[in-house]
Amino acid sequence: MTARKIFVTTALPYANGNFHIGHIMEYIQADTWVRYQRMQGAEVNFVGADDAHGAPIMIAAEKAGKTPQEFVAEIAAGRAQYLEGFHIAFDNWHSTDAPENHELARQIYLDLKANGLIETRTIEQFFDPEKNMFLPDRFIKGECPRCHAKDQYGDNCEVCSAVYAPTELIEPYSALSGAKPVLRSSEHFFFKLSDPRCVEFLQEWTQNGEHVQPEVAAKIREWFGTRTNPDGTTSEGLDDWDISRDAPYFGIEIPDAPGKYFYVWLDAPVGYLASLKNLLERRGEDYEAYMADPRLEQVHFIGKDIITFHTLFWPAMLKFSGRKTPTKICVHGFMTVNNGEKMSKSRGTGLDPLKYLSLGMDPEWLRYYLGAKLNGRNEDIDFNPEDFMARVNADLIGKYVNIASRAAGFIAKRFGGRLGEVGSDGQELLAALRGQSEAIAAAYEARDTARVARDVMLLCDRVNAYVDANRPWELARQEGMEERLHDVCTTCIEAFRLLTLYLKPMLPAVAAQVETFLQVPPLAFADAQSLLGAGHAIGAYQHLMQRVTAEQLDALFALPEPVVEKVLPGGEDIAPTITIDDFAKIDLRIARIVDCQAVQGSTKLLQLTLDAGEGRTRNVLSGIASMYQPEQLTGKLTVLVANLAPRKMKFGVSEGMVLAASHADEKAHPGIYVLEPFPGAQPGMRVR
Ligand SMILES: [Zn+2]
Repeated sequence: MTARKIFVTTALPYANGNFHIGHIMEYIQADTWVRYQRMQGAEVNFVGADDAHGAPIMIAAEKAGKTPQEFVAEIAAGRAQYLEGFHIAFDNWHSTDAPENHELARQIYLDLKANGLIETRTIEQFFDPEKNMFLPDRFIKGECPRCHAKDQYGDNCEVCSAVYAPTELIEPYSALSGAKPVLRSSEHFFFKLSDPRCVEFLQEWTQNGEHVQPEVAAKIREWFGTRTNPDGTTSEGLDDWDISRDAPYFGIEIPDAPGKYFYVWLDAPVGYLASLKNLLERRGEDYEAYMADPRLEQVHFIGKDIITFHTLFWPAMLKFSGRKTPTKICVHGFMTVNNGEKMSKSRGTGLDPLKYLSLGMDPEWLRYYLGAKLNGRNEDIDFNPEDFMARVNADLIGKYVNIASRAAGFIAKRFGGRLGEVGSDGQELLAALRGQSEAIAAAYEARDTARVARDVMLLCDRVNAYVDANRPWELARQEGMEERLHDVCTTCIEAFRLLTLYLKPMLPAVAAQVETFLQVPPLAFADAQSLLGAGHAIGAYQHLMQRVTAEQLDALFALPEPVVEKVLPGGEDIAPTITIDDFAKIDLRIARIVDCQAVQGSTKLLQLTLDAGEGRTRNVLSGIASMYQPEQLTGKLTVLVANLAPRKMKFGVSEGMVLAASHADEKAHPGIYVLEPFPGAQPGMRVR
């Protein structure tokens, strides 16, 4: 049988923030599946990439004072600690801003265009009159035209997953300025999804039972039906897809259309191919030949929020640009924590993956726990701390790890580290374990790792029942039971190897330790049909896994140290620390206001004549006219910055500055207050 050849991806994370637990869950699910396939001998390429384009990144980078490329590079640099931390082994991590993606996206577009599926149309689009730019979908919010959820984004609804045009939103507003957007016309490019060729293809592709889960196919079926538009009219079938955005936009420029860019969702899935191409070319392999192999399976793991993009747009783009269409789209639900309780400041935070690792919590506890929850269907799962503790301590350690620790010591101390013969009851037990290999393989294939965990724990129960029935620790004290002790402990070690093999996709690091301990090459699935056999030497048993403690879980969900709201009546933070030498550079002197006059033509300025004990007076212009009448100030003492460089202003040269206090937000807190020293200070005295 020829090995399966599989290209696997996870959804590309948007490069405007770090991974959250939802990303980690998806990666663990996909990584587990990939590891299983490799144990079956499949040739797998498992790739990811950062989704780098689009207006949100452009705007966030601008706010941070960086180029979008710099902004994305910093986010990308933070990825490895998560992936390595949870044993998620992508073969490649790339970016949708990479040259391969620019090239592939343009080619796919040109192929679609040549196939008559691209059309330009002048459309009305929302424009922010305050920000002076066309508003990206993500920066228009309003009420969903389908389900009427409030505050939904302009491109799709997070509540009902509907995809629509921003102009369909009810009561839209600009998320950038809050302004009511105005409609302006612009030429846009459309992918004609409504073309009968696309509709026919997608109906077949999504409904033939091969590419998506049944519950996902049912969801998609709704999109082909009759819909009621916001204006009361009805639409049939699929809408065309607007694939262009106007400059300014961080993305890929559309060929022969200056100032027009691909909408980020056009080039994001192309990033799967770009990451693969980059990987293959680095290895000296031919991308086109790889993709042309009819044996190749293309499998995408995604969350339920991006079904439309992956089951309509993406397969249609590939099909009608003459490319291979996906083999499977594996959709998972969301993860909630503590029964989906809304995370709030008072109640605690979500599950922070880096915090989890920093607390020294074992990444394989989480891999196993999530595996034990995920069943391959598009369903939400919940992280419950008590449940987590029970599954790790009672199941993983109590049932599985303990089997090895109960038997390994006797093999080492009493039998020179060598396995013996297995008696008939042991043979029967091992046959039962081996007999589950097909069912477990089928469950892995279907991503039903919940079934795997359940089945393996039942097998662990059988092995533990065998141990309890034979009590090796008692056999070890009995005369003449040496051979039986060897048999029982050998059975346990053989069983432990099979259980480890079954759990290996979920527990790669533990499995690697067990392989060292058992002195065997990396376990493949076919090894379930063999045994180590009498005489096989095993190494010294080392503790495989710690128990999770309540303290760790408390710490994981503990609130961060309360941040005391800094009271800043002045409206701004204290400036960075300076030294006394820095301060000494500023020469502050007591000065008498010998004269004060209004400034002709200015409502802000007063003209002060100051005596700072220099034997001459100074002319100082000060923006305090809103607070003081000239006669209020004449004769008073104040503080002058005496060594400030003279400044030429419209109304004359100002030779210094008087000190005055004001709030940072002058609009909200108007008022400016001139400083006056306590009685006794004399003009010319230095303030220090
Ligand atoms: Zn909705």
